[in-house]
Amino acid sequence: MNDYFCILIRKQMRKIEHIGIAVHDIENSNELFSKLFGQPAYKMEVVESEGVKTSFFMCGPNKIELLEATNENSPIAKFLEKKGEGIHHIAFDVEDIYSEIERLKGEGFTVLNETPKKGADNKLVAFLHPKSTNGVLIELCQENTDL
Ligand code: ZN
Repeated sequence: MNDYFCILIRKQMRKIEHIGIAVHDIENSNELFSKLFGQPAYKMEVVESEGVKTSFFMCGPNKIELLEATNENSPIAKFLEKKGEGIHHIAFDVEDIYSEIERLKGEGFTVLNETPKKGADNKLVAFLHPKSTNGVLIELCQENTDL
């Protein structure tokens, strides 16, 4: 890969920001993942607009997000019903979420929310429909400096 291409990639999706895992009972899963990583969640947050309760763990430089549904209409409740517990989404860090949404739409991806919304962990987020990404729900996330 040449340098020019690397620079282009860094301006777009720069790295995996976190991996989201859907769980039935976040209290039990917090205990489990605390044992797994040898340290507790560094943050817990409810995002009522999304119907989720989240917790975040660090494993070295990597971040894992656990998601529990707060009501039966939550997308997490629907996911758990259909697929059971497991990896729910992969989130990529982007520098400019607005231009990434435009670029990805232009490439033919289905963007679920074309206007970025406030997600957990002080991020602006947008999702790509799994039907357009080989069955994987992709989250774009940008550090929200306005909060
Ligand atoms: Zn996420």
